Amino acid sequence: MAKYTKEDIFRIVQEENVKYIRLQFTDILGTIKNVEIPISQLEKALDNKMMFDGSSIEGFVRIEESDMYLYPDLDTFVIFPWTSEKGKVARFICDIYNADGTPFEGCPRYNLKRVLKEMEELGFTDFNLGAEPEFFLFKLDEKGEPTLELNDKGGYFDLAPTDLGENCRRDIVLELEEMGFEIEASHHEVAPGQHEIDFKYANAIRACDDIQTFKLVVKTVARKHGLHATFMPKPLFGVNGSGMHCNLSLFKNGENAFFDPNGELQLSDTARHFIAGVLKHAPNFTAVTNPTVNSYKRLVPGYEAPCYVAWSARNRSPLIRIPASRGMSTRIEVRSVDPAANPYLAMAVLLAAGLDGIKNKLTPPAPVDRNIYVMTKEERLAEGIVDLPATLAHALENLKSDEVIINALGKHLFEHFVEAKEIEWDMFRTAVHPWERDQYMTLY
Ligand code: GLU
Ligand code: MG
Repeated sequence: MAKYTKEDIFRIVQEENVKYIRLQFTDILGTIKNVEIPISQLEKALDNKMMFDGSSIEGFVRIEESDMYLYPDLDTFVIFPWTSEKGKVARFICDIYNADGTPFEGCPRYNLKRVLKEMEELGFTDFNLGAEPEFFLFKLDEKGEPTLELNDKGGYFDLAPTDLGENCRRDIVLELEEMGFEIEASHHEVAPGQHEIDFKYANAIRACDDIQTFKLVVKTVARKHGLHATFMPKPLFGVNGSGMHCNLSLFKNGENAFFDPNGELQLSDTARHFIAGVLKHAPNFTAVTNPTVNSYKRLVPGYEAPCYVAWSARNRSPLIRIPASRGMSTRIEVRSVDPAANPYLAMAVLLAAGLDGIKNKLTPPAPVDRNIYVMTKEERLAEGIVDLPATLAHALENLKSDEVIINALGKHLFEHFVEAKEIEWDMFRTAVHPWERDQYMTLY
């Protein structure tokens, strides 16, 4: 990542004719928010003096304490590639501060930094994340509203002409590259209309910033192609949903702390403890990594998404898979996370779960190399494999029982997250769905 000083920023905006600056941040639910300012306000923004009304942001603060400040992270400065002739638009990603100059506890990005400090106290220097967000492309109707019509019938790694999304995907890749992304691969996914673009891993904060930028770019470019990109976890029944596999590793002074050439599977004790911690807390952090009612329609057997708590070095049905690469690329792939998750919150809970495993030297159960989808409940129980929660309601109850995960969110985020999600569950629970009418209208 580029390291910028204020002087660099002033120079670049002048050289590049940047006329507007967007100050972006992420709310509790993972939505990107932004304030646009003319370049005349840049100095004020860089002096951390841009104020906004926190009470208007979901889950932030009440009216009485609503003045909040945006502190731009200079190193996140990027010029958008799609701006007009009148002048370019650039952005900063910001942390949120209270009026008294203290960091705001409800800022998901700041909260992740707080958990990263706990990691540093244990002697690690980096928590790396390589995310694989999947998405669907649907056609827009003449009013610009998304339809359920897909624009291709392609499958895994298919090529054009089956894959009409290819042009759109290629444009997305170009725009991302212009914004400094290093794209590793881009391909059609298993379901019709489903795609994946993989970008290079980075430290957790940068990687979460990248996920947010990625979603914005994918949606913006798709629209130009008359398409709607959705990161909804399970838009269609009967085909794969969209996951956001998270490849995680801990580094100590430039060395991968998960790698041990002499360890079993060449994994270090640190990696094993981390895996054990993630498995232990998985049923309880799922509300955060899979935060919508719809998320649980993806976590069902048969669609390459996990529904059981287990790990494997080979198989793709467990929650954690260990990809084959070793050395500096040694990592664990957590497969349950979906792209509706607020990445900053998801990383905070995953890291805290793993660190709990390290602190308490937890031992993971034996890896499961069978296809768990075809095991019976008895076989699973015999191997100590528990289920992930089946609904958001169940996941929220689990979350409320786990001190480690609650601490990873901090009081403010935990309380506001649970409050918002309980309302969401209640709205779903009391709504009458078309499925119910199909089943019962004529039967009773
Ligand atoms: N779409 C699958 C999921 O829901 C994952 C497919 C893959 O292995 O990339 O997690
Ligand atoms: Mg995939």
